[in-house]
Amino acid sequence: RLVIVDEEMRGMQGVELTRRRRALRARDKVAVIGISGNSDPSLIPRFLKNGANDFLRKPFSREEFFCRVSQNVDQLELIGTLQDLATRDFLTGLPNRRSFLEQSQRQLSAVDNGGMVAVAMVDIDHFKHINDSLGHEAGDQAIRAVASVLQANTRSQDISSRFGGEEFCLMVSGLDAAASAAHFEKVRQSVAALRLPFGDSVLSMTVSIGVCRMPLRSGNLHSLITEADRQLYLAKAAGRNRVCSADTH
Ligand code: GH3
Ligand code: MG
Ligand code: MG
Repeated sequence: RLVIVDEEMRGMQGVELTRRRRALRARDKVAVIGISGNSDPSLIPRFLKNGANDFLRKPFSREEFFCRVSQNVDQLELIGTLQDLATRDFLTGLPNRRSFLEQSQRQLSAVDNGGMVAVAMVDIDHFKHINDSLGHEAGDQAIRAVASVLQANTRSQDISSRFGGEEFCLMVSGLDAAASAAHFEKVRQSVAALRLPFGDSVLSMTVSIGVCRMPLRSGNLHSLITEADRQLYLAKAAGRNRVCSADTH
């Protein structure tokens, strides 16, 4: 995460290495500190213009070196914290709606592998009743518990997010119709099996799930979400605690 690069090297100059490094990894991922004993006044601006965060002129003291290193590492950590605050849902730690839309759009725009992609809307049934009967605290606990079930069923290529309130949106790729049905059915059952101790009572809940599947190549995020939402509405209307799914081409 931190590259310290000397301008005077055999094979490649530090500024050029910095430029190549920067093309691969943005400023939120890697910090670069250039160093050199050369007093050419154009060197520092060249380092900075090519993506270095900082520059140290040789000879430098041990203390100055460690100060610069820790300052640059602190800055990377601060960027990470801010990114987390902007992209994660505070209550559950899941990606938030904005982050889901960005990530899933990126996934849809990636090279077509000919497979299918599914978007699912997951909504807790009669959630208002949990809040009203046991209080907001219980409601929050229910949301966190559903989030944990979703997280446990999220493979590395999938995205699970909290869309808002008691509603979650998932993107799952590469499953055929049968595997997709089994996957979302498992999620539904895992939530229904939860028993959360809360005060003197035990909290349980169900979710309704609306799914839309499309070939990755024709996948349009907006229509995937709209259709998943429509399927969710059908699942609610049919009695809740069920999965309704549509395949589109
Ligand atoms: P349905 O089965 O049709 O989905 O009914 P529902 O009661 O789950 O749906 P409704 O949209 O009527 O109620 C959602 C409630 O969720 C209303 C709102 O007060 C509550 N809510 C939204 N965000 C939070 C939250 O972060 N924590 C808690 N505890 N409640 C929340
Ligand atoms: Mg609900
Ligand atoms: Mg809702």
